[in-house]
Amino acid sequence: MSSILQALSCADNYDPNSLHVERARELILGLLPPVTGIERVFIRQALDRVLAADVISPIDVPSHDNSAMDGWALRFADLATGGESRLKNIGTAFAGRAFDGRVGAGETVRIMTGAVLPEGVDTVVIQEVTRVEGDAVIIPAGQQRGQNTRRAGEDLQAGKPAIPAGRKLRPAEIGIIASLGVAEVSVRRRLRVALFSTGDELCSIGQALTEGAVYDSNRYTLWGMLTRLGCEVIDMGVVRDDPAALEAAFRDAAACADVIITSGGVSVGEADFIKQMMAQLGEVAFWKIAMKPGRPMAFGRIAPDGPDRSGAWLFGLPGNPVAVMVTFYQFVRPALLKLAGLAPLPVVPGFEARCLEPMKKSPGRTEYQRGILGRDESGAWTVRPTGAQGSGVLRSMADADCFIVLEHERGKVGAGDTVTVQPMAAIV
Ligand code: AMP
Ligand code: MG
Repeated sequence: MSSILQALSCADNYDPNSLHVERARELILGLLPPVTGIERVFIRQALDRVLAADVISPIDVPSHDNSAMDGWALRFADLATGGESRLKNIGTAFAGRAFDGRVGAGETVRIMTGAVLPEGVDTVVIQEVTRVEGDAVIIPAGQQRGQNTRRAGEDLQAGKPAIPAGRKLRPAEIGIIASLGVAEVSVRRRLRVALFSTGDELCSIGQALTEGAVYDSNRYTLWGMLTRLGCEVIDMGVVRDDPAALEAAFRDAAACADVIITSGGVSVGEADFIKQMMAQLGEVAFWKIAMKPGRPMAFGRIAPDGPDRSGAWLFGLPGNPVAVMVTFYQFVRPALLKLAGLAPLPVVPGFEARCLEPMKKSPGRTEYQRGILGRDESGAWTVRPTGAQGSGVLRSMADADCFIVLEHERGKVGAGDTVTVQPMAAIV
C-alpha cells in the first residue's frame, strides 16, 4: 500500500491544521477498502448484514400469472364494447388450488387473490361491481384488458439479480430472499473493532471515584455505537497515559482487529508523545478538524507487527464524551460502513427546521449542536437546542433527537432562522 500520509498530504486542500469536515470524510473514505472475508449464513442470520454477492433469482416472482383481486376471471375479447356483458360461471380458482380447465368464449371463473389465472383468461373484474343471476355473471362496461392481474416475473425475473451485492439486508430484503425460496446467502464478515480509553484520570465501573477522577463513559458509548452498527467489539479497557502501555495496547489491538478506536490523548497537550510513538507504529495523521465539538482527531494505519498480521485502521478520537460521539457519527460511522462493504453508502438525511432559540456560531468550522424536534401550528418542523452544549455534557446527546448542523461558513443563528437538522433515528 502506498504511504497513507503521502496520500493524505498530496490531496489538494489538505491542511492538517484546519481540515474541513467534508474533506476529512472524503480523505478517509477514499483510503478504505471493504473487508474481503465472506460467510455463508442462513436467512435469519443475514438480517443487518452486508450482502457479499448478488442474489440471483432462481425463479420468476410471481411464478405464474395470477389475480390481484377477488373477482371474475374472463377473456377481455368477450366483453361488449358498450353496456353490460353476460358470462357463464363455470367454476372457481383459489389461491393454491387452480381451476383446472379452460375458459372458453362467453365463460368466466370466480377467482381469488393470488389464484393462478386459468388458461384463456387475460382480465379480472372485481366482484364488487358485478351481479350474479343464477349461473350468469353480469359485467358492467368500462373494463380494461389485463386489469387486476399480476404477470409472471413482474417483480423478479429468473436469472437476474434480485438484490445487489453491497446492500444491507433489512427486513424487506430478507423477505425477498425468502420469496425466492433461497435459504442461505453470502455476507461480508463482521468488522472487528478494538477499543480502549486513554487517561490517567479514568476510573472503571466498580472502582471508587478518587479525587479528580471520572468514570470512563467513552468505552460504553463506543461499545453501544459499534454494536448497533453490527461490529464485533473487542473492549481493551483503560490504558494509562504512558508510552509503553499505549504502545503495547496498539500492538495487541492491531493483531486482532480491523479497526482500532481510542478516545482521549490527541489534544495539543497530550499529542506529542503519542505522535512520536505512533510514528514508530504506523502512519498516522493528526488532524485539527474545523468542527465543534471534536477538533483533534488522529487517523491512519497501525502497521502489522509480523508477516502474517494485517495491521489495523486507527481512529484516535478526542476524550470529551460528546466529541467522541460526534466524531464517531461524522467520520467513523461512514468509514466502518465502507469497510463493512456497504455500497452505495447510505445518505444521511437532513431537512430544514426553524430554530426556536438563538445560537452562537463562528464562521470557519462546522458545528453539530444537539436539538429537539417539534412542529409548529402549521405543521412545519421546529428545533430547539438541548440546553448546555459543552463537549463534555453527554446529557445534551441523551436529550436530543437530532443534530443541528451549522455549516462551515455560517455565522450566528437568530431565533426563527432556518437550520439543517439530521434526525438521530437515521444515524444513531
Ligand atoms: P483528553 O482528550 O484526553 O484531553 O480528554 C478531554 C476530556 O475528556 C477530559 O476532561 C477527560 O477527563 C475527558 N475524558 C477523556 N476520556 C474519557 C472517558 N473515557 N470517559 C469520560 N470522560 C473522558
Ligand atoms: Mg486524556
